[in-house]
Amino acid sequence: MDARLPALFIGHGSPMNIVADNGYTRDLEALAGRLPRPTAILVVSAHWLTRGWAVGADERNLTIYDFFGFPDELYDKRYPAPGSPAVAARVRALTGGRAAPMERGLDHAAWAPLIRMYPEADVPVLELSLDVSAPAAEHYALGRRLAPLRDEGVLIVGSGNVVHNLGIIDWDDDAPAAAWAAEFDEWVAECVTGRRHDDLIGYLGHPLGRMAAPTPDHYLPLLYALAVQAEGDDVLTVHEGIQNGTVSMRCLQVGG
Ligand code: ZN
Repeated sequence: MDARLPALFIGHGSPMNIVADNGYTRDLEALAGRLPRPTAILVVSAHWLTRGWAVGADERNLTIYDFFGFPDELYDKRYPAPGSPAVAARVRALTGGRAAPMERGLDHAAWAPLIRMYPEADVPVLELSLDVSAPAAEHYALGRRLAPLRDEGVLIVGSGNVVHNLGIIDWDDDAPAAAWAAEFDEWVAECVTGRRHDDLIGYLGHPLGRMAAPTPDHYLPLLYALAVQAEGDDVLTVHEGIQNGTVSMRCLQVGG
C-alpha cells in the first residue's frame, strides 16, 4: 500500500458498547467504511500495562475478557483476528528494541471497538502495551518512532479515554455529563486542534488533570495517535460525547 494511513484515537468506554447501538457505535462503523483498508492494525492499549514496552507477537489471537460483571452476551463474543508477527518485529525494530515481542491475545481495548469497525475480524491485529514506569513524554517519544508504519499500511490506534474516572462513574447509560468532565474533554479538544502537544503531555498540570485521569492508562494512548501526526495532517473529530457521566468517548482521526 502506498498511501499514508491516518492514525486514530478511540475512546472505548464501557464494554456495553460491544453490543450497544448508539451514536458512538454508529460513528465507529461509519469510520471503518471511510478508511482505506489497512494491512494490519496496531492498537496501543489502555488495558495492557507492563514494565518496559511489549508488543503482541501472536500468530493467532485469543480474545481476552478483561471485564467483569457484564451480561453473558459479551462473553459469548469472540474476535479471532489473526496477529502479525511481521509487524511486531517491525515495531520492535522501530523502537530500537524497546518493545519486546510477547504472546498475549487481544484485550477489550482492542477488540471492543474493532468488533464494531471490522466485524469480520479479517484484518491482522496486534497490540502495544504501555510501560507503567515511563513518564508521558517518553510515551510520546516512543510513539513518534512508529510513524513510518502509517506508510506501510498499518493503522495505528490509541485506545483509551481522555476522561476516565471509574471511582465516580454513573452506570446509568443516560447519565448527564459531569461539568468537570466536559470541561477537561473540551480542553483536550482545543489542544488537539491547536496542535499543543506539549500541553497534552503535561496534562497533570491542568487543574482537572488528576480528576480526569486518576491513573494514566486511559489517557496515554491519545499521545501515541498525536505523536505520529505529520506536518500537514489535520485532526478530525470522529465522535464526541460523555457516557456514564464521566467517560469521554472522544474519538479522533489524525490525517487522511
Ligand atoms: Zn478501558
